[in-house]
Amino acid sequence: MIKDKLETTQPIVFKTLSNAITNRKFAHAYLFTGVRGTPKKEAATWFAQNLVCEHKIDGFACEVCDECRRISENKYADLIYLDGTDATIKKDSILHLQEQFSKTALEKSGKKFYILDMAENATTEALNSLLKFLEEPNGQDTQAILIVDSIDRLLPTIISRCQIIPFKPLNVEHYYEDGIASGLDPLDSYILSHIVKDVDHMKDTSETEEYQTGRVVAERFVSLFDVDIHRFLVWFETEILGSKEKDKEIVKMMLEILLIFFRDVVSCHEGQTSWFEREVIRIRDKNYPIEKIILILLESKDKCNRSYNLQLVIEQMIYEIKEVM
Ligand SMILES: [Zn+2]
Repeated sequence: MIKDKLETTQPIVFKTLSNAITNRKFAHAYLFTGVRGTPKKEAATWFAQNLVCEHKIDGFACEVCDECRRISENKYADLIYLDGTDATIKKDSILHLQEQFSKTALEKSGKKFYILDMAENATTEALNSLLKFLEEPNGQDTQAILIVDSIDRLLPTIISRCQIIPFKPLNVEHYYEDGIASGLDPLDSYILSHIVKDVDHMKDTSETEEYQTGRVVAERFVSLFDVDIHRFLVWFETEILGSKEKDKEIVKMMLEILLIFFRDVVSCHEGQTSWFEREVIRIRDKNYPIEKIILILLESKDKCNRSYNLQLVIEQMIYEIKEVM
């Protein structure tokens, strides 16, 4: 049930929407905003179901009746769903939408609504047409839901006409479980749940050379940094550096993984996989200046992003870590 999922993972969104449903007080337009992977589209579906369902359970849509099902399958005649995920939303689509909405509702509920998914991927012309429509919706029963990953790319004039419903990023454990369920190795799932907030994206990333090599380098670093950090450097410069194109991405990935690892050491969090757990336990009782190491890693990451010479960044990082140890 979408209701249960929203109630547990997005309590504030649930409260706002369920208040509107209970009091039958709706904004003309809602703007659902939140990072990729948050259940914005599901929430939009659930919200629409609540406007038409005639078999409500405890005041909320049943999610299984004919109306509810047709909404979730996008077969409800008075619901127009435009998706900007794979292709831009163009002006023509908005004009078509306006035309459809000027007609009488086809379904018996009399409610008409449209959902613009990934609305940030609409052309400026499309957004301008939409703006006019938001200003003069045809009739009281037209409901708009705009869905965006990032609010920054929408026109302020559009944002100001919508009630904003922010979705909070799901917690790391949620992505970790999803990663495991989709077949990822526990360590990969653990690491990627911190870096990539979307299970499909986690899977794709786990298969990249940047990630796989970055993970090997990070593991090597952890096993050597307090034993023989010079050996790590020699190995890194002879075995890893050189593929040029991907060097930078590999180093960035290594730094991301090391930051997760050392933060786990500081917080005494043993991770959820044997390698993290074993190494965190090995290092945390040794009184190393972990906070200083984290700072050095963060500075190195910043230098990578600002295109310093990569080899120099690593050499300097190793030198500084040696100094503080
Ligand atoms: Zn229903």
